[in-house]
Amino acid sequence: MQKRRLAIARLWYEANSFTPSHTGLEVFKAREWCSGDAARAFYAGTATEIGGALEAESDYPDWEFTYLHCASAPPGGLVEADAAAAISALILAGLAGGKWDAVYLSLHGAMAAVDDPVPELHLLQKVRAAIGDTPLGASFDLHANLGRETIGLLDVTSGFHTYPHVDMHLAARRTLDMLLAKAEGRSAPRIAMGKLPAILPSFNMRTDDGPMAEMQRLADSWRRRPGILDVTVYGGFAYGDSPFAGPSVVAVAEGDASLAQQAVDALLQDLAARRDRFYVQLPSPAEGLQRALAAGGSGPAIVLDPADNPLSGGIGDTPALFRALLEIAAPARTVFGFFWDPPLVDACHRQGVGAVIRARLGGRVTADFGPPVEVEAKILKLTDGKFRNEGPYQHALPADVGRTALLDVRGIQVIVTESCQTPNDPAYFRLHGIDPETLDLLCVKAKNHFRAGFSGMARCLVDIDAPGPAAAGLSHYRFRHAPPGLYVGKSKT
Ligand SMILES: [Zn+2]
Repeated sequence: MQKRRLAIARLWYEANSFTPSHTGLEVFKAREWCSGDAARAFYAGTATEIGGALEAESDYPDWEFTYLHCASAPPGGLVEADAAAAISALILAGLAGGKWDAVYLSLHGAMAAVDDPVPELHLLQKVRAAIGDTPLGASFDLHANLGRETIGLLDVTSGFHTYPHVDMHLAARRTLDMLLAKAEGRSAPRIAMGKLPAILPSFNMRTDDGPMAEMQRLADSWRRRPGILDVTVYGGFAYGDSPFAGPSVVAVAEGDASLAQQAVDALLQDLAARRDRFYVQLPSPAEGLQRALAAGGSGPAIVLDPADNPLSGGIGDTPALFRALLEIAAPARTVFGFFWDPPLVDACHRQGVGAVIRARLGGRVTADFGPPVEVEAKILKLTDGKFRNEGPYQHALPADVGRTALLDVRGIQVIVTESCQTPNDPAYFRLHGIDPETLDLLCVKAKNHFRAGFSGMARCLVDIDAPGPAAAGLSHYRFRHAPPGLYVGKSKT
């Protein structure tokens, strides 16, 4: 018997509209850029959507899974116009090259390009035009900014139920199970969605405690209801300036649009009741350091600077936390991760281990968030920046942060890298000869995903508020594409 044919493609990118730099095609090519057998090899065993699709294959022996173009880059600024167009064209060319019984796309939902605030909508419109009535499913990040037009193009959809996102592969699985059931005529899914008119920061959006954990429990009880195929609560991405900005709830029900709508309406009410708990007050860098060092227990005290977290569009460049660190008596084993500074890394690799150099740390991309810190530094270690994730977030995915240098600045070990990627996996530190478990103090440009690999070892984790492209307070960001009047915590856009 001829097998049914499933096409799979991926365009996964989260854009911070307020980040000063833009992301070009070369950043995608350096991170995730493959199709066919190369995609099978790259994603095998990874806790990603494509990893989830690979796992699902054995349960669908009547289906042939074909991996069209898969592209992803670490979160950053807006995508350059030609890069977004080139990736979409590759996916569409792949679809044009075959006849399909179903199509699955792994999308983020908060991608934005320089010339287009909603490129994923436009990609889905082109895909739908190309495949006609063929069943189409897509999965999204929990931080997706979703519009009715986007969801309206899909037959089935799901998203992450966890933050940190440790269920990416399961989101793919949920989507594929619904999609293939629809394609085989076993299911008639109906989708409903609704939005809350607000922009929620993600500081307090983790799914292990707080308002989003409560939302997941409420969503879980809907997921257990007969007839409900999936319910996903999306927090939205606060720094994505989009006409679809803000949280949403999407439900899929078996043959029953009104049941799906009932779940959406109830959960939106639950979310509205918790809205204000998503806005947090964080300590200054100096206060945060003090609080962290005062904490008892074993393991490293960890201070996070989420305003410059690359996974939220940070630029690895804001100096406020590092400056505050130099002003205290830092404990013996203190590590700062990181600064993004390709010219400095290059200079270190030319000078070699043991050399002492003068350097300006931070304030390189822009001085808007503070001027550089001038230091004398000894080069302790040089690396090629390649490792494999060992923590639960994107577990086992190969990582490449470009060449790196480990510097000693007044007893503090400082990591400098050639590309701008968050230090959110323990293997990142081991690459530099650092066992994170044994540190006294670890300062990182990171946010909630970091916790997946470190909360088990940390004495404490303290978020601070410092100037940066992804700061806690939203009222000073100028939104141009978001609908006017969205609530941003005691004020509106
Ligand atoms: Zn996310």
